[in-house]
Amino acid sequence: MTQLSFYGATGQVTGSCYLLENQQQRILLDCGMFQGSKETEKQNALDFPFDPASIDAVVLSHAHLDHCGRLPKLLKDGFNGPVFLTDASFPLLELMLKDAVHLQTRDIEWENKRRERSGKELLEPLYELCHVEDLLKLRQPIAYEKETIILPGISLSFHDAGHILGSAIVRLHITDENDTKTLVFSGDLGNPNSPLLRDPSLLTEADVLLLESTYGDRNHKLLEHTLDELSDTLAAAEKNGGNVIIPAFSVGRTQDLIYWLGKLERQGKLPQKQIYIDSPMAISASEIYAANTTLFNVDDPEFSKTAPHGWHAWLKGLIYSQSAEESMAINRIAGGAIIIAGSGMCNGGRIRHHLKYNLWRRNAHILIVGFQAEGTLGRMLVDGNKKYLKILGAEVKVEAKIHTLGALSAHADQSQLLDWASHFNAPKPRLYLVHGEKTAALSLQSCFSRRAWPATIPKIGETISF
Ligand SMILES: [Zn+2]
Repeated sequence: MTQLSFYGATGQVTGSCYLLENQQQRILLDCGMFQGSKETEKQNALDFPFDPASIDAVVLSHAHLDHCGRLPKLLKDGFNGPVFLTDASFPLLELMLKDAVHLQTRDIEWENKRRERSGKELLEPLYELCHVEDLLKLRQPIAYEKETIILPGISLSFHDAGHILGSAIVRLHITDENDTKTLVFSGDLGNPNSPLLRDPSLLTEADVLLLESTYGDRNHKLLEHTLDELSDTLAAAEKNGGNVIIPAFSVGRTQDLIYWLGKLERQGKLPQKQIYIDSPMAISASEIYAANTTLFNVDDPEFSKTAPHGWHAWLKGLIYSQSAEESMAINRIAGGAIIIAGSGMCNGGRIRHHLKYNLWRRNAHILIVGFQAEGTLGRMLVDGNKKYLKILGAEVKVEAKIHTLGALSAHADQSQLLDWASHFNAPKPRLYLVHGEKTAALSLQSCFSRRAWPATIPKIGETISF
């Protein structure tokens, strides 16, 4: 008998972590960070609800922090097995974890100075650079579609999920006493509108299916309408002299944006001449994307021709901003620029400086192109019910225009999720909805129930057998 326990991304979109075990082995699917409000993030410091030293292997769906961010803590707490991931996740994992440990160390030093002054107990970092480096030594890349025996009786294959470079749908065959069961974990499923990546691979057989539900309660607007809205916004910003600020995940969203802006430039719809990527991390990620153009979608011949020459050949006004000095210089630009920076949900990173310098300007435009979790600054911008927001210790009046362009999201929407799942043959797999806030998961659940396919929304800590 095989058991699966849900230890994260249940009733919320972050903290992806599932434990699969049979008599002989224990495999962890993802080991992600909880992200959002301070309360949510406190969960990262808690002990794992299982013994990390007892885990034989980790299988990683993709390199976003909410799927991989607690891996170094897992190692620090005793894990020492292989971490299976795709070829392109291999460099991305290094980029993500080194950046995460760097930011954490800086934040903790800052907070501890404050605590020391007020005589409070000092905080411990979740992990340190040495843990990240040791964890990276455990990576074992596997190509897409290549069935591999990873432990006795357990084989694994990765299938392109089209969400970010290297993202995978995970399929495991588990053989126990002459009986083989198949578990499919969708990981984060891409939006088929993604210009750079392929559509999510279709799978047809499973006994148990874990399906993400980030956008389970809504459908994206039509892509063409969204691109019109994007070019209208750029035109309006140019006319009234403001900047366009775009919070974007460094891996995935930023590269899609460079693509769309290059496309608009070719159509004569990009009036801005300066497009800043203000994020060393996004710059590195863009270079990793550029080194993996063989994994790209090839349905745009114009782009395919230019892509091998790098991003600057595709988008003329592109400016990489690496250093803190370069970043601060952007703060002095009062209008006419497009500024893309992280973090994608505005809860950290350089984007907060750009919001502080632009949010109070009537002529500025803020473009939201990715999912904003509950409790983040980005969510407050989307909800739009605050007149003032506290950013980097300053009270900032919200005067800029806020636009949400859902069709540019990296996640499949409700109809795309239903369509992807519909390819599974009857008898339909037992279905569990994960990686979605409650309303999204409930709405998707009722769609499945109308299709006579019952879906369960698991609770954190819940264990199922199959
Ligand atoms: Zn993701």
